[in-house]
Amino acid sequence: MNDKKIKNKKLTLSEIKALVFDILKKQGCNEENANALARTIAKAEEDGAVSHGLFRLPGYVASLQSGKVNGQASPKIEYVSPVILKCDANNGFASTAHEYSLPMLAKAAKKNGISVLSIKGCFHFAALWPETEYLAKQNLVGFACTAFKPSVAPAGAKEAFFGTNPISMAWPRSNNDPVVFDMATATMAKGEVMIAARDGHYLPDGVGLGENGEPSNDPKEILKGVLLPFGGYKGSAISMMVELFAAGLTGDVFSYEAQENDNNDGGPPSGGEFIMALNPEIIAGSNWEKHCDDFFQKLLSIDGVRLPGSRRHKNRLGDQYRSINEELLLKVKSFL
Ligand code: NDP
Repeated sequence: MNDKKIKNKKLTLSEIKALVFDILKKQGCNEENANALARTIAKAEEDGAVSHGLFRLPGYVASLQSGKVNGQASPKIEYVSPVILKCDANNGFASTAHEYSLPMLAKAAKKNGISVLSIKGCFHFAALWPETEYLAKQNLVGFACTAFKPSVAPAGAKEAFFGTNPISMAWPRSNNDPVVFDMATATMAKGEVMIAARDGHYLPDGVGLGENGEPSNDPKEILKGVLLPFGGYKGSAISMMVELFAAGLTGDVFSYEAQENDNNDGGPPSGGEFIMALNPEIIAGSNWEKHCDDFFQKLLSIDGVRLPGSRRHKNRLGDQYRSINEELLLKVKSFL
């Protein structure tokens, strides 16, 4: 497979955010919902996470056009106990639910040491680090996971059952960027496979099986077949855990149920998200930060090691222009 000649256009982050806001308003979102999602998309572009930035906008628009997503959503939050919060996303995008519920989650963890948020009825198509990093910036440990629709074969199988089921953890550091990992439990996120298919790149071994159930390195074949979990049966177990947290614990749908309910308009399915905040000051005591900083220093002193999240944080410091695929830009502008 030869690399296609890829043409890009330069846009500033504020141009990206304004463009997304205008498109979402035109496509039926009110200001609050358009702003929340525009912020999420601009954050992904800022960090160079192209598979979860503007690339996702056609899917978001499709789900507004089909009437699946409520662009006027007004999430409702209920305290089940002082540390358990339930958010009904009102069939809106996850970004809006986050803006309503994360400050309340953080407040509960600061006071009580731990808090848990289950979001139901939201449409999540984005990276998870914005929610966990928000918590870490408030000196809390953040954990989040969500399921999707089946596209990953459990270990031993050749048919899809798990979603790409991402999981993220963010660890606070007051004098440094938080340490954040955010990863699909598939060997590769589906958005990355779609981008490789678009741009004509072969993929490494272990990403997926083709339509015939045989291992393939061709992203187009894998998109007709199934993705594989990372790390064989170990990643498969973690993907199962994500299903249980994001659906079993929130009371929302498992990936296979999400598939049954979805109208396949190209946007995200309705589902749940599990988010937890932990307060190390209360749980570990006041020495926690120095203790963990020593750990990170030791880890970083090993040749070849870098901390997860550091690539994105470096991208954030780059100039304010971002390269956007020209075809994608034309496509999203057609929604105006
Ligand atoms: P990657 O494989 O690119 O990265 C996974 C994690 O590993 C990142 O935190 C990354 O940090 C870290 N990492 C990568 N290389 C190294 C290294 N050499 N040393 C240390 N850490 C490293 O991500 P995925 O492709 O798995 O996922 C991409 C995105 O897709 C995620 O944001 C995820 O939330 C999202 N997603 C969303 C879904 C949804 O339904 N909403 C479904 C599936 C995925 P860094 O960023 O610094 O490189």
